[in-house]
Amino acid sequence: MILNNPNINNMSNLDKFRQETKEWLDKNCPPSMRSGADPKIPVDEVWGGRNAEYKNPESKLWLDRMGEKGWTMPTVPKEYGGGGLTKEEVKVLNEELFGIGAKQPLLSFGIWMLAPVLLEYGSEEQKKEHIPKIIKGEIRWCQGYSEPGSGSDLASLATKAEDIGEKFLVNGQKVWTSYADKADWIFALVRTGPKEPKHDGISFLLIDMATKGVSTKPITLISGKSPFCETFFDNVEVPKENLIGELNAGWTIAKKLLQHERAFISNFGLAAGMGSKRDVVSIAKKHLGEENGKIKNNFYRSEISSHKIKEHAFGLTLKRAGDEGGKASATASMFKLYGTEHNKKRHELMVAASGINGVAWDGDEFDDDDKNLTRAWLRTKGNSIEGGTSEVQLNVISKRVLGLPSQ
Ligand SMILES: Cc1cc2nc3c(=O)[nH]c(=O)nc-3n(C[C@H](O)[C@H](O)[C@H](O)COP(=O)(O)OP(=O)(O)OC[C@H]3O[C@@H](n4cnc5c(N)ncnc54)[C@H](O)[C@@H]3O)c2cc1C
Repeated sequence: MILNNPNINNMSNLDKFRQETKEWLDKNCPPSMRSGADPKIPVDEVWGGRNAEYKNPESKLWLDRMGEKGWTMPTVPKEYGGGGLTKEEVKVLNEELFGIGAKQPLLSFGIWMLAPVLLEYGSEEQKKEHIPKIIKGEIRWCQGYSEPGSGSDLASLATKAEDIGEKFLVNGQKVWTSYADKADWIFALVRTGPKEPKHDGISFLLIDMATKGVSTKPITLISGKSPFCETFFDNVEVPKENLIGELNAGWTIAKKLLQHERAFISNFGLAAGMGSKRDVVSIAKKHLGEENGKIKNNFYRSEISSHKIKEHAFGLTLKRAGDEGGKASATASMFKLYGTEHNKKRHELMVAASGINGVAWDGDEFDDDDKNLTRAWLRTKGNSIEGGTSEVQLNVISKRVLGLPSQ
């Protein structure tokens, strides 16, 4: 028991927190959820939700334990199910998790996008209803923004929600809805003011995917996978209490959510580059050979060195932004632009250095790492599109960060 540990008495609060965290993780992080796990044990990508299935029961155990502690959203106040930790404590927690190579307990659009805007714009009832379920991974969310005619020009969206008294009646279609077929709820932008100027007639609505009239249809990607769906709303009745913020004031919430999404996506390049088993240097060594510990090819050695320097500088910039408060703002567009373009470049380097193996798809002559790399490389193409394209980020940066006039 931590209080009986004599070494703790002379420690600062943060040192005590580190010690307690270490002990808690030691006891509660299951063996297969940390580095050094038996490679034969199946690995789950945990998204939670009503219909989640787990190949490895320890994935669920790890989620439950971290969710109960509120550590899937450590800074969120305890009253909403979060960890209630300070920024400094979160840093310690992350260091300790990293130290044991702990697997992320939960991947979640609820955590990355919805919960932060609920905290800012939701009513007390809405926060208490939805945030704890997000933190515990009980409800899986998807994002209903894009429509067939509205992507970059998102404010032109046409899915309409009519006031029918106690409820809204929603009709229309969303597209590119990632994992809509697996999600329990959707946060959607709907048109509630057809006569208002386009930005002033949009509302932010939460819709249970199990409601009558909601249906989804998967779309296949070039990577062969199909996380995308078309989502249809056919006379869907949605309770008015599911409206977040004021009627027709959804555009402000929509933009704030995009800033959280972009801040999250900007980490892809970095997260993929650091501590990833798919490392550009090892892949280059594997396919081009190694001499005195170095990649045996001058051209790739120079390209990869320059890439790694940029990656390090980007990592430090992200860290500094985080240390200085890291609030979601238009600057997230700069990080999103750089991070996603960097991640694409990184995968292009790995594919090019792999030679013919860089286009491995199937067949016994290629190993699984090569086949997975090809798919991952194709997936990175979507990084600079999702959450707003690179061109859209440039527009946001010029207008909102640099203050340049728009035409
Ligand atoms: C991997 C992935 C996951 C996604 N997940 C979701 C999701 O879960 N939910 C969801 O709602 N959407 C999702 N999307 C959709 C995504 O938000 C849109 O694809 C994106 O906003 C671009 O819209 P669009 O596809 O309609 O392209 P368009 O808007 O038609 O753009 C086509 C091209 O024109 C350029 N362009 C457009 N307008 C301008 C301009 N003003 N200035 C300069 N260039 C411009 C664009 O940069 C792009 O190159 C996802 C997309 C991807 C790739």
